[in-house]
Amino acid sequence: MILPPAALGMLGGGQLGRFFVSAAHEMGYRVWVLDPDPHSPAGLIADRHLVAAYDDYAALDTMGAGCAAVTTEFENVPAGTLDYLAKFMPVHPAASAVAVCQDRIAEKTFLADNGLPHGPCAMIRSEDDVRNANAGLFPAVLKVARFGYDGKGQARVADRDAAVAAFQHFKGEPCVLEKLLTLDYEVSVVLARGDAGEVRCFPTGENRHRNGILDITLAPARASACLRGDAQQVAERIAEKLGYVGTLGVEFFVCRGELFVNEMAPRPHNSGHHTIDACDASQYEQQVRALCGLPLAVPRQHSAAVMVNLLGELWYEDGKGHGAYREPDWSALHAVPGLRLHLYGKHHARPGRKMGHFTVTGDDADAVLRRALQARAAIG
Ligand code: ADP
Ligand code: MG
Repeated sequence: MILPPAALGMLGGGQLGRFFVSAAHEMGYRVWVLDPDPHSPAGLIADRHLVAAYDDYAALDTMGAGCAAVTTEFENVPAGTLDYLAKFMPVHPAASAVAVCQDRIAEKTFLADNGLPHGPCAMIRSEDDVRNANAGLFPAVLKVARFGYDGKGQARVADRDAAVAAFQHFKGEPCVLEKLLTLDYEVSVVLARGDAGEVRCFPTGENRHRNGILDITLAPARASACLRGDAQQVAERIAEKLGYVGTLGVEFFVCRGELFVNEMAPRPHNSGHHTIDACDASQYEQQVRALCGLPLAVPRQHSAAVMVNLLGELWYEDGKGHGAYREPDWSALHAVPGLRLHLYGKHHARPGRKMGHFTVTGDDADAVLRRALQARAAIG
């Protein structure tokens, strides 16, 4: 077991890293963050911020010398970085698991190889692959295999010609072509797995997106207990097959009552933010526990919760990304019973950028949802 006051290394300085730093601090650890952005949200509150690229080996040597274990908050860390750090100390999740989650082709191949449910798709490495793709896939979504997030690097394509044009627009980058599914709704499972293989799932959450970006999470999901349980079982199998250690997010589509894995995130997940306010232990505390070899907490959810993302457009006069730049007036939110506001300390708001979120908790799920939607309407 790695115990306080050991220093833990965090690759990435975004909001997920920032919440990890807070959780680790509460537990008595120190945290060193590596992120090239001098204003990164996690770097601002870390004990040490190494302002360097993820493949800066001098910075990795420094982290290796000073930290007892390393984890990540984003999937695009070069696999070579994780392998390099693993020579010094425990690195969780391992490079091999991150490699599957950071590449949509590897991810879909992993799901298919393990008999895990996913939507119809084709791997696209050349224009010929688009020309030969099954006609039944259209209308479809073309997604670049790597570095996409929040709906970026995706194009909805009505037919084969549109898919060829989109593939050219993506400069021939490897892609997956997915059938555009008619979704009943979307759910996700956040879980933690320890190095002895024990797994703890948070209750399945329900996610609503706007413009390809997560907008709201309702936890627990309003789906049947059976579907919620099935999603947890699939997520557990994924964690086992990946030999995963740490906090993992698995996104699902629900389509005509059936579950399909959409994608996996080898880190805490946006749809698990509410675990800070609505559970006995958060997804970030579980990440610390898994990383340090502590027993995982039983993550009981004590309150119904709704999480609402706050995007950068709110920082503009009309609330939609136009007009004068100003800080939103948060006073209306602070007046809502059971609401907790979390702002990430990002220096500049851009439309679509995740700047903060709030969580409303309470005993009655319908009332919580109503209050959350009213609160959102009150700030634009
Ligand atoms: P990201 O990495 O940006 O989260 P996703 O693949 O999860 O990428 O896509 C973002 C959102 O776009 C999904 O949560 C879903 O709402 C919608 N979406 C993506 N793929 C499909 C699809 N094949 N059919 C229907 N909706 C989709
Ligand atoms: Mg997604």
